[in-house]
Amino acid sequence: MSFTSLGLSPALLEAVAAVGYDTPTAIQAAAIPAALQGRDVLGAAQTGSGKTAAFTLPMLHALLARQGTRRGLHGLVLVPTRELAAQVGEAIRALVQHLPSTIKVSIAFGGVSINPQMMALRGGTDIIVATPGRLLDLVRQNAVKLDATATLVLDEADKLIDMGFADEIGEILALLPAKRQNLFFSATFPPAVQRLATTLLHDPVRAEVQGNAAHEPDIVQRAIEVDAVRRTQLLKALIREHQWRQVLVFVATKYASEHVADKLRRNGVAAEAFHGDFSQGARTEVLADFRAGKLHVLVATDVAARGIDIAQLPVVVNYDLPRSPADYTHRIGRTGRAGASGVAVSFITPDAEQHFRLIEKRQAKRVPRERIDGYAPTEAPSPTTAAASPACTPSDPNGGIKGKRKSKKDKLREAAALAADKA
Ligand code: AMP
Repeated sequence: MSFTSLGLSPALLEAVAAVGYDTPTAIQAAAIPAALQGRDVLGAAQTGSGKTAAFTLPMLHALLARQGTRRGLHGLVLVPTRELAAQVGEAIRALVQHLPSTIKVSIAFGGVSINPQMMALRGGTDIIVATPGRLLDLVRQNAVKLDATATLVLDEADKLIDMGFADEIGEILALLPAKRQNLFFSATFPPAVQRLATTLLHDPVRAEVQGNAAHEPDIVQRAIEVDAVRRTQLLKALIREHQWRQVLVFVATKYASEHVADKLRRNGVAAEAFHGDFSQGARTEVLADFRAGKLHVLVATDVAARGIDIAQLPVVVNYDLPRSPADYTHRIGRTGRAGASGVAVSFITPDAEQHFRLIEKRQAKRVPRERIDGYAPTEAPSPTTAAASPACTPSDPNGGIKGKRKSKKDKLREAAALAADKA
């Protein structure tokens, strides 16, 4: 399968070659021909599958075809986070710069001043990639009009819903013309996402990709058994042993993110916390340092880490397991993107074993348990988690479960961590 057989215009084929894509990924092969026919698309695909180009190429194809007759905004791409807005916007710009005609791509997200975004929208735009709240602010300020939108894309629809954007999406839909194309992408399809897809899509073509089929990234999953209290030491030892230079570590709470980063720093590892309390400026700075290799380890909460796109992120560590199997898939999708290989390491504390089994069951893949000399677990699971509640919370972020019963201090610490959390 090659890009030439998908029906894209010669100008786009040149742009695709210029950005270095040889073969379409599975989601691209499934979604592009349908979208080129003007059909709505329901894409089930994860980060790393090549979904951005899967919706961008047909959108650009249609835009090029209506050059001359163009009025107003052509493409609206809704994304859940600032980071994803920037990443998707840049990916579209990378293609556009190789096209013969000038196409303006705007990026808008909240958490920063609206004025520069309003200025950038002066004179109109062809494509806007935006988070829903900020887009509505821009509409209210008359900085952008949505009534000519030809293509609507919902990227990471499950995260849009998770992050509470359902109402904003409803408001935005009311501003769009009834006749338009809808491209809907999500990694998972819980009921609320299904409902949104049903309201939005007209007779969609389903493009479903299990894993990342065509460009199956080579993600090696490892599950290392360890006591909760020894996880930071194990992490440090693994970083040293493998000389990891770019590690994304997932933890359950903001508190744990600060705590683990702090401990690593004290041990001479260039580490930084990354969570929802950071200002946009601080996030940008930390990410730039991480990209540039000045920082070797980012200790992040799920929400903060969402949308971080760093080509070939080599290692992801689940210090705390995610609550849902879907989040596990999202997390490990940060590594081994489109062909590059990566390692996803999960720390399995005695209390987390049951929960990890559930994750394995959902992904229909067993991950052999490993023990590392000097770090083999000695603790028994606590009585509550031994009884296995499937959505068990990952163990105490402070790594505290020492005996079978929690001490008063442990309980206070847990309460503080819970209160601090809402990353
Ligand atoms: P996405 O899932 O859209 O975030 O894409 C993941 C990564 O794969 C990005 O870094 C893209 O540049 C890259 N990519 C997308 N499509 C292809 C392709 N057909 N061949 C090689 N790399 C690709």
